[in-house]
Amino acid sequence: MKCTVCGAEMRSTRSDLPFKTTEHTIVILKSLPILQCENCAQYLIEDAVLGRVDRILATVDGAAELEVIRYAA
Ligand SMILES: [Zn+2]
Repeated sequence: MKCTVCGAEMRSTRSDLPFKTTEHTIVILKSLPILQCENCAQYLIEDAVLGRVDRILATVDGAAELEVIRYAA
């Protein structure tokens, strides 16, 4: 897959990414599988991973300001 911004090759890697679930809650998902551009800061999350992310975020208790969850494939 090519980067939509610069056209360089995207490669599979894992990264820790923050997701804002409510106005006050940020969830950090650790070791999330993503496609990262070799040339710029652009990254993509594949649909299958994103679907799982949605399910993980749906289980998060909105009472905490910061939650750190390890993504398990
Ligand atoms: Zn790029």
